[in-house]
Amino acid sequence: MKKLTSTFSINQKPKPDDIIVSINPKKEILFNKKSKTFFHPLSNKSKKAYKIFDQDDVSIYLVDEIDDLNEDLEYLAKRYLYAHLDEGSLTLISRAFQIYDWIYKQKFCSRTGNQLSDVNDDLSKFCTSCEREYFPKMSPCVLVAVTHNERILLVKHNNEIRTLSTVIAGFVELGESLEDCVQREVHEEVGLQVTNIKYFESQSWPFPNQLMMAFSAEAINDKVEIDNKEILEANWYEKDNLPTIPPEPSLSNKLIKSTLKSML
Ligand SMILES: [Zn+2]
Repeated sequence: MKKLTSTFSINQKPKPDDIIVSINPKKEILFNKKSKTFFHPLSNKSKKAYKIFDQDDVSIYLVDEIDDLNEDLEYLAKRYLYAHLDEGSLTLISRAFQIYDWIYKQKFCSRTGNQLSDVNDDLSKFCTSCEREYFPKMSPCVLVAVTHNERILLVKHNNEIRTLSTVIAGFVELGESLEDCVQREVHEEVGLQVTNIKYFESQSWPFPNQLMMAFSAEAINDKVEIDNKEILEANWYEKDNLPTIPPEPSLSNKLIKSTLKSML
């Protein structure tokens, strides 16, 4: 897939060769079963379209629900999306979902309850009552691959995906640095102290609006004490006896594989 460059415009109109992505009010995204794609040629019906990406000489527009679907097209709910995600479609879906929420779902000022303006070209919305400008929010999160003596610590979280073993994860608290967050989350979830914290990579995740930032860190010992509320189990694994880990293209998959690769 060609590189997607983020952009935003409320006034530009799609050209004949441009592409649309469509999300409906149930937050399902339009998918072509035959060509296995979330990108669609422009439909004849003129709808409000927001430009959200440039991709070389074509642009990608976000539109609301389309009514006249042919047999190849269907709206996919979140749980059916995962099977079709790769890095390119994740970038597309992440931005499209979050912009959809901002345009269509965030309607009111959180201070006065006044109705916000329509979205502007810089993605802002304005409240005329308190004269405040609003921008869409995202939630920073850390992922941490904890290692000790050529082993990696993987946990099962007490959430909807209990069958997968993965890295430690948590939201960044207000006023906290990423490094502080890494140390606090590891300590809260498995009772370990870590050192040698190294940044790995980041990924936008749209369910609902996380910016995931991945790190590796070394535990100073291997005595795990789990927090039974958030964690069901935590175990050390060697390179060749891994449990089932999250699939591609999740950042946790990449982080776990890269961490294992660095072990001899
Ligand atoms: Zn206001």
